[in-house]
Amino acid sequence: MGFRFAPFTISSVKTWDVILVGGGIIGISLAIELRKRGTSVLVVERGEPGREASHAAGGMLVDCPLETATALQPLATASARLYPEFARELELESGMKVDLRDAGTIVFPPPDHVHPRPGVTLSSLLPAPLADLEPALADAGRPAFFLKERSVDPRALTAAAIKTAKNRGVDFSSGDPVTKVNIEHGRAIGVTTIKTSFPASKVVNCAGAWAGEIAPQPFPTRPVKGQMLCLLMPSRTTITHVIRSPEVYLIPRSDGRLLVGATVEEAGFDKRTDPATIQRLHRAALALAPKLADARILEDWAGLRPGTPDALPILGETETPGYFVATGHFRDGILLAPITAQIMANVITGCEPGYDLTAFAPHRFASRAA
Ligand SMILES: Cc1cc2nc3c(=O)[nH]c(=O)nc-3n(C[C@H](O)[C@H](O)[C@H](O)COP(=O)(O)OP(=O)(O)OC[C@H]3O[C@@H](n4cnc5c(N)ncnc54)[C@H](O)[C@@H]3O)c2cc1C
Repeated sequence: MGFRFAPFTISSVKTWDVILVGGGIIGISLAIELRKRGTSVLVVERGEPGREASHAAGGMLVDCPLETATALQPLATASARLYPEFARELELESGMKVDLRDAGTIVFPPPDHVHPRPGVTLSSLLPAPLADLEPALADAGRPAFFLKERSVDPRALTAAAIKTAKNRGVDFSSGDPVTKVNIEHGRAIGVTTIKTSFPASKVVNCAGAWAGEIAPQPFPTRPVKGQMLCLLMPSRTTITHVIRSPEVYLIPRSDGRLLVGATVEEAGFDKRTDPATIQRLHRAALALAPKLADARILEDWAGLRPGTPDALPILGETETPGYFVATGHFRDGILLAPITAQIMANVITGCEPGYDLTAFAPHRFASRAA
């Protein structure tokens, strides 16, 4: 007859250096970076890791001053540069592909953003005629320019990051929401969940659009809904570049899928898709690329971007020592995951962040209110 041990909760016997609240791409990338530095890490996830915004994203790695807030530009550029190494490491360690593509992006800017200069037409900013670059596009003579940007498959990326984190010894607790950060003598000492509590000397709130729901600090994060759909491209109509127009964007995957996105809506925590909205996005995609008329719709979905009042992330230590926050990445969290992981691991381990984080300070909203 075998022995039976008395049941125990994991929290009663183990403690961690750092608890990360939220298992999206931000929490998981940071968990990996902290493990590399010898830190013990527990990720506490409300549902299943990697199933919220990081699952819903398109995966454009946008590094364009026309589309990026000035304060965010240094982080966006640094993160875009880190991507090949970040993706290669996750692929090697997980044995999974993340579909990092570098065909580049063709942008059709809004007409009021086009300021002609002598001798320069936007079409001269394409490496080849549009009809050669993307024969499937309707060439209505609209101005366009080319960006040397990459894209990635966020679902594959997040799955590879979760596997890498597990391989590296990151612990996970899933299916149990954190309700509050525990504080003793003014310092963070762990978290309380619906079912139990976990001790740690440091806690990081990476709960995305839900970050403001965790006591005691009510960060002003809010959900910004995005609806998308996914087409299966007919083999003779393959789009290879990311295409951005004011009406819609198209993101090709190497397996023949084509993502069409996305709305930006203030709709609370509602993640339902609306058939009329999906049809509108579909029609806009067909207007841009009429040869996609035969493309089958595979799927549609909605996700919740973590928004903030000034559309900038919240990064750093809070006014409670030992309690940190890394959220509010809004439309750029996939792009910003590698640099956020490095910066936050520096801050948490007491090193110089390497960047000026003033614009992202957690207390900036409190001081504005005052
Ligand atoms: C339609 C759409 C398109 C997008 N396209 C792009 C793009 O092209 N490029 C780009 O860079 N970004 C894009 N984004 C933005 C990007 O998806 C987000 O910025 C990024 O995924 C945020 O990651 P996160 O880890 O902070 O949040 P999430 O992935 O949402 O993860 C947060 C996690 O915290 C968990 N959680 C919440 N509350 C609790 C709690 N109380 N206790 C424990 N766990 C909790 C959640 O369950 C979730 O798993 C897009 C987003 C959407 C919706």
